[in-house]
Amino acid sequence: MKKDVILTGDRPTGNLHIGHYVGSISNRLKLQEKGDFEKFYIMIADTQALTDNSDNVDKVKNNIIQVALDYLSAGIDPKKVNIFIQSQVPELAEITMYFMNLVTVSRLTRNPTVKEETKQRGFSSSMPVGFMCYPISQAADILAFGTTCVPVGEDQLPMIEQTREIAKSFNSSYGETFILPKAFLPDSKVCQRLVGTDGDLKMSKSAGNCIYLKDEPDVIKSKIMSAYTDPNHIKISDPGKVEGNVVFSYLDAFCTDESFKEFLPEYKNLEELKSHYRKGGLGDVKIKLFLNNILQKLLEPMRKRRKEYEKDLDQIYKMLFENGVKAREVAAQTLEKMKSAMGIDYNKFLKK
Ligand code: ATP
Ligand code: MG
Repeated sequence: MKKDVILTGDRPTGNLHIGHYVGSISNRLKLQEKGDFEKFYIMIADTQALTDNSDNVDKVKNNIIQVALDYLSAGIDPKKVNIFIQSQVPELAEITMYFMNLVTVSRLTRNPTVKEETKQRGFSSSMPVGFMCYPISQAADILAFGTTCVPVGEDQLPMIEQTREIAKSFNSSYGETFILPKAFLPDSKVCQRLVGTDGDLKMSKSAGNCIYLKDEPDVIKSKIMSAYTDPNHIKISDPGKVEGNVVFSYLDAFCTDESFKEFLPEYKNLEELKSHYRKGGLGDVKIKLFLNNILQKLLEPMRKRRKEYEKDLDQIYKMLFENGVKAREVAAQTLEKMKSAMGIDYNKFLKK
C-alpha cells in the first residue's frame, strides 16, 4: 500500500494555543514519530489569513515567524516535515481558479464553519469574496500535494468534505487526477473542538479566549484562575456542574491518571474528581490549581525550546524559503497534470 502524504496548516493570525495543540499538533507529533509517511507538509496559510485581514497585512506577516516558532517549540522536526509559507507557492492560486468553476455559490454559502466565522467576524453583505472562497483555495492546498491525510480539528470537516467533492468533480469531468483525502481527528470530542476560556466559543485566535503555547507561567495561571466554571457553584459545599465547565473540559483534554499521582494523589482519576465536584464539597480553586500544574508541565519545555530557536530567526526564514521552493515543484507538477487532463496544456502545440 502507498504511504500517506500528510498536509495540514494554520493561519498566521496569532500565536498557536492549546486548542491547536490538542486539535491538531498532538496528532502531527504522533504521525511524525511514527514516521510512516511519504511526505509531510505543514503550511503557514498566509494567503488564507489575508482573506479576512486585508486591512491588517502586518499582523499576518509578523505572525508567520511566530507560528513557525510555535511548531518548532511544540516539537515539530524540520528535518522530517516540510514547513512552508502558502504565498511562496503561487501555483496554488492558479489551481484555485480552476476549482472555482466546479463549485456553486449556494454550495459555498452552506458551509457551517464559514457561516459561524462570518457571524463571528460581523460580515454580512460586507463579506470579502476571497473569504467566501477560502474553502476552495484550501482544497487547492490539499490536492496540490496529493495529500491523503489531513490532521485537523473538527471545524475543518466541512473543508475536507468540500475538498473531496472538488476532487470527485474534477476526476469525473476531466479524468482520474486526484486522490480523495481524509481528515485525521483527535479521538476525544473535547479535543476536536477545545472550548475557549470564556466557555462560549471554540478557543480561537480571533476570539481572544486562548491560552497560548508561549504564555509565561503567571499568564497561564491567571487565565486558568479566571476561566469559566459553573456560575451556580458559589460555595464549596454547593453541588457543581461538570458539563460546560471549562476547567473540566481542559482536564478531559490534558489530564491522565499520572497527573493525579503527581499533583493530586487524594484522587485516583478524573471520574472520582468529577463525582466529588458534582456532589459538592470541592472548590474551584483546587481544580484550577490542579489544571495549572498540568498545563505548566506541558508548556514549560515548549517555552524553553522556543527561547533557543528565537536566537536564530534567520535560520528559520531560510528553512521556510527553501521548503517553499520544494513545495512549489510539487504543486507545479500537479498543475501540469491538471492542465493536461483538462486539455489546456497549450505548450504541446509548440512542440509540433
Ligand atoms: P482563526 O481564529 O484565525 O481562524 P484559529 O484559532 O481558528 O484561528 P486556525 O489557524 O484557523 O486557528 O486553525 C488551525 C488548525 O487548528 C485547524 O486544524 C483547526 O481545526 C485547529 N483548531 C483551531 N482551534 C481549535 C480548537 N479550539 N480546538 C481544536 N482544534 C482547533
Ligand atoms: Mg480558524
